[in-house]
Amino acid sequence: MRRDAERRIAELRTQIGRNDYRYYVLDDPDLPDAEYDKLMIELRALEAQYPDLITPDSPTQRVSGEPVAAFGVVTHKVPMLSLENAFTDEDVLAFDRRIHERLGSEAEANLEYVAEPKLDGLAVTVIYRDGKLERAATRGDGVKGEDVTANVRTIHKVPHRLKGHPPQVVEVRGEVFMPLKGFERMNRLLREQGEKVYINPRNSASGSLRQLDPRITAKRPLDMFFYALGTVEGSGAEDLPPTQWGLLKAFEKWGLPICPDAAVIKGAAGCLDYFREMAHKRSSLSYQIDGVVYKLNQRADQERLGFVSRAPRWATAHKFPAEEATTSVQKIEFQVGRTGALTPVARLEPVFVGGVTVSSATLHNIDEVRRKDVREGDTVVVRRAGDVIPEVVRVIKHVSDDAPAVELPKRCPVCNSEVIQAEGEAVARCTGGFTCRAQRQESLRHFAGRRAMDIEGLGDKIIEQLVEQDLVKSPADLYTLTLEQLSELERMGEKSAAKLVQAIDKSRDTTLPRFLFALGIRDVGEATALALAQHFGKLDKLLAASADDIQQVQDVGPVVAAHVAAFFASHDHRKVIARLQEEGVRWPDVARPSVAGQPFSGMTFVITGTLDSMSREEAQEALIALGVKVSGSVSRKTRYLVAGADPGSKLKKADEFGVEVLDEAKFVELLKPFR
Ligand SMILES: [Zn+2]
Repeated sequence: MRRDAERRIAELRTQIGRNDYRYYVLDDPDLPDAEYDKLMIELRALEAQYPDLITPDSPTQRVSGEPVAAFGVVTHKVPMLSLENAFTDEDVLAFDRRIHERLGSEAEANLEYVAEPKLDGLAVTVIYRDGKLERAATRGDGVKGEDVTANVRTIHKVPHRLKGHPPQVVEVRGEVFMPLKGFERMNRLLREQGEKVYINPRNSASGSLRQLDPRITAKRPLDMFFYALGTVEGSGAEDLPPTQWGLLKAFEKWGLPICPDAAVIKGAAGCLDYFREMAHKRSSLSYQIDGVVYKLNQRADQERLGFVSRAPRWATAHKFPAEEATTSVQKIEFQVGRTGALTPVARLEPVFVGGVTVSSATLHNIDEVRRKDVREGDTVVVRRAGDVIPEVVRVIKHVSDDAPAVELPKRCPVCNSEVIQAEGEAVARCTGGFTCRAQRQESLRHFAGRRAMDIEGLGDKIIEQLVEQDLVKSPADLYTLTLEQLSELERMGEKSAAKLVQAIDKSRDTTLPRFLFALGIRDVGEATALALAQHFGKLDKLLAASADDIQQVQDVGPVVAAHVAAFFASHDHRKVIARLQEEGVRWPDVARPSVAGQPFSGMTFVITGTLDSMSREEAQEALIALGVKVSGSVSRKTRYLVAGADPGSKLKKADEFGVEVLDEAKFVELLKPFR
């Protein structure tokens, strides 16, 4: 079991590290935040179980990222941490409440905060010695960043010499960003020169600052606002103002630019007012923001509150909700997914929304198209939030009243098989199964994906050819491909063919959750694959399980259980699985997460409402470490409902089922012996 944990910990660290690299270094994340958070939670839980397996380089021990090798590496004396996020008014109220609780009775009724817009740029720290700019570095992983001194020197707003009387050594931190006008001008220039344009101002700020040649950076319209203090040494260190606001004013006196929209506000109500004001002003600002930041004003209080793992307790970032924009629908097409599902997609007149240019948006399914009555040529509202796929929200104006409504095609646009929409189902499907090229292609793409079998170099273009030439009919065929066959494909040199053969071979060693996810069973995402693997431990047991057995798995309902059972009941699927195993695809058995000898092991808990002494994630981690299953909904199987403030409907449910309810005090008491 320990060995399994060790293996899983290593896997999680690799997975998280790879994603951090994409997020922080390449500016190109491909894992949704929720999935990323799940990985972190699982890793923290395992490390809580085996504290001796924690290493200093574990992602739980630092903030994320990795400097590019070509820049010098700078170690931050004071780490550059990230902020917790708040998404709702309730989150902000809870943030303010937690601070009150921690500060105790001495705290004023209405705490003072400094509020600022949250710029969409790149965090940078600059050290001045004897008033002279000595060094500048990016945030990097928060502990080590890249030395970008030469590039920061080219930013006009950043003084090479401070005015007035700053401390002998002072480190000031802020955000490098690209004003919107400059962004548009630069992209126009790049387009004229036939070069690649940047997709958003954040991307362009980061790309411009991290140019190896500072002469290129110098030509980019970068700007910077300062908002925080790093390390301070020598004479003058004691004379710094006692408040965050005072610091900003001192920065200004030293000649450092600060955000003109920063303000001192009072209490949670003041925070929310400021948030609404900035949301209103947002579109007229000369720079792009994705929310606002609140920081406790009194620095002595900041110090008393301190930090929790990755973020200060005295600050939070309140994020704006999804952004919307208006555009027109040029065409509506149907895409065929790996389970044959036909997804209507609107091709749009390109529009800038949520920080990127969007040229297509999903319409989810035919019922949605009918409900919203979207037609080709219509003017529509498109919404995009974070990494989520853009969607058409509603029609503003029909192109004309007699424009034809969109019809569900009777035949698959790819393989011409019949399309059916099962009774009571929103999704229509191509019945071609694996004979449908689109389905085959999509399932192979899913199978080879980074989060599935992780076959590097097996890109879309190659999969397309493999399917078209009938070289691969099922995923098992991948493992019999020869070097010769691969090197005959278009755009495939001998070298890359050899690499691909190697990558395919490497993918033979996998894990059960990955394998189950790779199979592409309907409704089985990574989380469900993991739950199935943990519940059954071995593939054989899962293959022998009935739909009822499968429904015993945590968070698996009757519909998903039926899909899983149906998938494994198929003779064809069993054949493919057997062949994959014959071709050497293998994985270690999975240990159940429960911890023997612990009193709550195997029990199911549900958490609801806001806890004051810890975040919900922290509570969840603590429970998982005790072998507890944490579920999202109350059922007869629930042992305890942990109810924080404003518990909502789950409390009623618990009452109905006679589930015991723990308030926060009792819950903390219960955890005490194990913390
Ligand atoms: Zn088809």
